[in-house]
Amino acid sequence: MTVLSNDNPEAYVKIPKIKFTKLFINGEFVDSVSGKTFETVDPRTEEVIARIAEGDKEDIDLAVKAARDAFDHGPWPRMPGCERRRLMLKFADLINENVEELAALDTVDGGKLYSLGKIRDIPSSAEIIRYYAGAADKIHGATLKMSRDLQAYTLHEPVGVVGHIIPWNFPSQMFVMKVGPALAAGCTMVVKPAEQTPLSALYYAHLAKLAGIPDGVLNVITGYGSTAGAAISSHMDIDKVSFTGSTEVGRLVMQAAAASNLKPVSLELGGKSPFIIFDDVDVDKVADLALQGSFYNKGEICVAGSRVFVQEGIYDKFLIKLAEKVKSWVVGDPFNPEVHQGPQVDKQQYDKILSYIEHGKKGGATLLSGGKPGGEKGYYIEPTIFTDVTDDMIIAKEEIFGPVMSVMKFKTVEEVIKRANATKYGLAAGIMTNDLNTANTVSRSIRAGVIWINCYFAFDRDLPYGGYKMSGFERDFGLEALNKYLQVKSVATPIHNSPWL
Ligand code: ADP
Repeated sequence: MTVLSNDNPEAYVKIPKIKFTKLFINGEFVDSVSGKTFETVDPRTEEVIARIAEGDKEDIDLAVKAARDAFDHGPWPRMPGCERRRLMLKFADLINENVEELAALDTVDGGKLYSLGKIRDIPSSAEIIRYYAGAADKIHGATLKMSRDLQAYTLHEPVGVVGHIIPWNFPSQMFVMKVGPALAAGCTMVVKPAEQTPLSALYYAHLAKLAGIPDGVLNVITGYGSTAGAAISSHMDIDKVSFTGSTEVGRLVMQAAAASNLKPVSLELGGKSPFIIFDDVDVDKVADLALQGSFYNKGEICVAGSRVFVQEGIYDKFLIKLAEKVKSWVVGDPFNPEVHQGPQVDKQQYDKILSYIEHGKKGGATLLSGGKPGGEKGYYIEPTIFTDVTDDMIIAKEEIFGPVMSVMKFKTVEEVIKRANATKYGLAAGIMTNDLNTANTVSRSIRAGVIWINCYFAFDRDLPYGGYKMSGFERDFGLEALNKYLQVKSVATPIHNSPWL
């Protein structure tokens, strides 16, 4: 791989001035009750970008009160769906008008590639809002054929005040993926972005206000997970929590929900996804896809295909290709359009990934490439490929959330199904083969929520996304996600004007 050091980002882009650093409650940017702030750090330079208001329980209470008032008395849940659609479409247009600034915020805050932010992350965020805007006036119940002399129907009503707790790896897409369907359903909400990447969430709140989304409908509280986040999951007046993050924290969220008002939760958690390559593929193409599968977004993606199973007939050839291709994988400043991989999000993540790499080395795996930090300043790590990995090694079992690939050899279809499923996770799987029977057999046998055949990361707002097993439950994206924010009310009445029991 190439590591570009001493890069000068000013040569590529003008980094925006940070405009929004306060909590967004009831349509206003306000300081936290305590007056405390926290630093958000640029992972390229390890320098502080800005100080952000540190929300805590009292601030969550204020935001929930605003959201509750907006839900119980405000126009949002009561207006016709076509009116919500109109305001959401305006919100989406404003996102498109601010693509460069939003992309730059996610790059300075999260180390994400600016070039991809501009053409993919931010435009697709606008499209996600449009997708759900289009659903806002198509929320229907059913008319039921009852077994007795009754007529009955169901109403699909918004679930109420929603708490969204989101992670740092896709700050923009996570925000709209949660907020879009909840807005369309007529819910009001409090969003807590990750403490590592608060900047774009505050910007989205500003755009929502400009679009005319009423005050109190969308509130954003920046702050830490164990304080502001925990105050959401345990809040008595939040009706639903939608969480994306680690399996450990997902468990805490569910416990807190159970111990408070029994609010339903949806969880999108960790993964350790298999990327399975059969003998019959074009090795050259699949090697490119495998690199993307492990190193895209610097490996900070819960569906990373980091357990690469290769059938024995092409194993050696595949390793040669991989070693060749990783040489042209460029690590460096994420504002530079030539770069494939920016810095990890923060010091904690960086240290954790390096310690997994040490485990790999000490555990007996062979290093095909990488294995070290990439540069003196910033949280850069070389794309790291281990071969001779066995299923029981820590690097093959635990989610690393960094640019680390483990390559393993297999013989038969039955064997690889068994090994691919031997994990507590079940988020995604990639199957590379030209044999239809193999693709069908394996896709039906893998216990995971998303299967990609001869592709990887084939996300779409229309494709439901979520996990099996300890990768969570319920789905983001698609109309499945809209249903998370709706509840069903059954209404029955006698057909003839006579009392009925
Ligand atoms: P990651 O491993 O991706 O950093 P986390 O699960 O730690 O994911 O964080 C995801 C989100 O959950 C972040 O917004 C974080 O602040 C929040 N969070 C962390 N701890 C808690 C907690 N105890 N209760 C609620 N939210 C939390």
